[in-house]
Amino acid sequence: MARKKILITGGAGFVGSHLCERLLNEGNEVYCLDNYFTGQKENVIHLLDNPYFELIRHDVTTPFFIEVDEIYNLACPASPVHYQYNPIKTMKTSVMGAINMLGLAKRVNAKVLQASTSEVYGDPLVHPQPESYWGHVNPIGERACYDEGKRSAETLFINYHQQNNVKIKIIRIFNTYGPNMNPNDGRVVSNFIVQALQNHDITVYGEGNQTRSFQYVDDLVEGMVRLMNSRDEFLGPVNVGNPNEFTILELAKKVIDLTGSKSKIIYKPLPSDDPMQRQPDISLAKKELDWSPKVNLDEGLIKTIEYFKGII
Ligand code: NAD
Ligand code: UDP
Repeated sequence: MARKKILITGGAGFVGSHLCERLLNEGNEVYCLDNYFTGQKENVIHLLDNPYFELIRHDVTTPFFIEVDEIYNLACPASPVHYQYNPIKTMKTSVMGAINMLGLAKRVNAKVLQASTSEVYGDPLVHPQPESYWGHVNPIGERACYDEGKRSAETLFINYHQQNNVKIKIIRIFNTYGPNMNPNDGRVVSNFIVQALQNHDITVYGEGNQTRSFQYVDDLVEGMVRLMNSRDEFLGPVNVGNPNEFTILELAKKVIDLTGSKSKIIYKPLPSDDPMQRQPDISLAKKELDWSPKVNLDEGLIKTIEYFKGII
């Protein structure tokens, strides 16, 4: 296959680092752009020996010029702790980042994929969530900078396609976990594993009966690459996630079992606007991408626990 030039924004983050590796292994030339807000060089340092890999420090809120065939736009903090740290910056990253990447795609005639999120469904009133559901988002709540930023980015992607014929793809990613998550990331899987490995208390927010559906990162990367390579007419948005739904309390118990930890579960207040339930309807991904997740939660957690054992 011909070597493609591919830009990955947020490439030094958790998902981006796996995507860089996958696309390099397929023989492409990969440009990894990141401002290192939540990502880190350590995630991609092993790729630096590859002459077809370049690491670029840059912030997507300012324009960037490069000749590429494809752009995966992942730059954006994904953990509530980090995206709420500077909400205005989060919104700028989503909106101005989208405008800058769409402008670049238009200029060089590249195909651009937007990493959107299940958060566009907010605290959903429809369960499981199909792509046709418009969502239930509080526009002035604590999560709004992320949710509304990502919703605006989807709007911009569709507008650039309709008005300027830019080739776009939109993926709605559901909770994903795996190696290369930052141990201080604040998301539930990394928090619970790090706490369990250190025999610290496991912090369940609320009563732990809220649900999430957890996807292993390899399944997500497969879905992203399939979407980028899908037929031109298929733009998405398409859900990519694992429909197996667990309560947060079930997850805590599973992590304790798999690590053999002596940790106790403690309960902390539930953050505001924390969605009560989340499960992807993946019929569209099955039909259009011939994609479904392959890694179950136990298998994925075991690999992730091994990773964290090596770094903490
Ligand atoms: P992450 O925080 O590990 O990665 C995000 C990366 O973007 C980091 O390397 C960070 O430094 C970089 N970044 C942030 N702001 C930037 C800016 N202004 N300019 C340049 N780089 C910037 O998170 P992740 O889990 O790898 O998420 C990757 C993408 O996938 C994000 O867009 C996120 O919204 C989306 N997503 C992830 C999940 C998930 O569960 N992991 C779920 C839904 C959507
Ligand atoms: N959560 C928790 N303890 C933690 C971190 C998160 O109980 O230490 C809960 C959080 O309240 C939410 C769920 O786990 O209900 C998933 O949180 P995360 O931040 O991973 O993702 P998101 O809420 O964006 O889906």
